Amino acid sequence: MVVGIHRNAKAVIDLDAIKHNIEIEKKRMRDDQKLFAVVKANAYGHGMIEVARTAKEAGANGFCVAIIDEGIELRNAGFDDLVLILGVCPAEQSNVIAANNLSVAVGDLDFLENAKPLLKAQGLKLKVHLAFDTGMGRIGFVNGEKVHEAEAFMKENSDQFEFEGIFTHFACADTKDDSYYKKQLEKFNELKDALDDLPPYVHVANSAASMWHDDCGGNAVRYGITMYGLNPSGRELELPCEIKPAFTLESELVSVRLLEPGTGIGYGKTYTVDEPQWIGTVPLGYADGWLRRMQGFKVLINGEYCQSVGRVCMDQFMVRLPYEMEKGTKVTLIGENGGKRITAQDVADYADTIHYEILCSVSERVPREFIKKY
Ligand SMILES: *Cc1c(COP(=O)(O)O)cnc(C)c1O
Repeated sequence: MVVGIHRNAKAVIDLDAIKHNIEIEKKRMRDDQKLFAVVKANAYGHGMIEVARTAKEAGANGFCVAIIDEGIELRNAGFDDLVLILGVCPAEQSNVIAANNLSVAVGDLDFLENAKPLLKAQGLKLKVHLAFDTGMGRIGFVNGEKVHEAEAFMKENSDQFEFEGIFTHFACADTKDDSYYKKQLEKFNELKDALDDLPPYVHVANSAASMWHDDCGGNAVRYGITMYGLNPSGRELELPCEIKPAFTLESELVSVRLLEPGTGIGYGKTYTVDEPQWIGTVPLGYADGWLRRMQGFKVLINGEYCQSVGRVCMDQFMVRLPYEMEKGTKVTLIGENGGKRITAQDVADYADTIHYEILCSVSERVPREFIKKY
């Protein structure tokens, strides 16, 4: 992977904001609840290791990732905390998971049966969190009998398995209508009741549930998007606390020219200069995660909104400037500039998606710079 350390574009990550957002959540949680910082997908594009370090310093008790390799990366960086892989993993990798002391989501008995001989052969013990599918329709057990079978299987094979947790995931904890959320919670309690004994960790809340349904129970919260300073519901629900966005995307003008009427801008000449016009070029494009459909959106330069014109190229795009600006002038794509702000939510609205996707899309080619004053 090539990281553009010499380029004039970067994502600036405010670790103080992340620390703040965790401290806010810790205050809202009950004392007996743990906070798992969700750092999958390179910490939603923010940089996994640095975010994990800050999260831990701010009081996180463990981490959630999506795939085995993210967990291994945390171990290689020296984290000895609980690390839970939230996705379904191949049972053939159960020895790798156990050898790295990672915990794993298990959604069916097959996984346990297939993992057993591997673990046994290598004298390894796997930490398991049973996933309950209460209505997300994604992964996990849907019936109590099977849950009970899985529990019994782990008990019988207690040299190979440590039953560490149960969890579920809500599909609609971030919407005004909470009827489906309630249905899921009910189903969770039903599946939970199928167990003879509860494992140490029972966790149901993601950011949304912890914001708007803090009565949902469990002794741990999987804290994702709100840690990064964004509202899980987009614009639908108001947050009960003050959080700070941590992600800024910025670049600078690498070319500023007065172009003649009739000059086309970009591939396909979708924009034509109709009077002598100052056009600036920004060295970021769709290969960096600045989606092609951001054509026509705005950026902030010298505290002014400037419209992007012509198609977004792979590595560059052009903007219409209100007056001649100097080469090297800072361009803010996400963040604050001269008292004005473009949020990840604004970008998501324009791209007809959610802010999660916008941040995850900022590619590894864009270097991350970390601000840490605390
Ligand atoms: C990604 C994920 C989370 C975090 O969700 P946020 O909305 O970012 O808080 C929590 N739980 C599971 C199972 C996930 O996949």
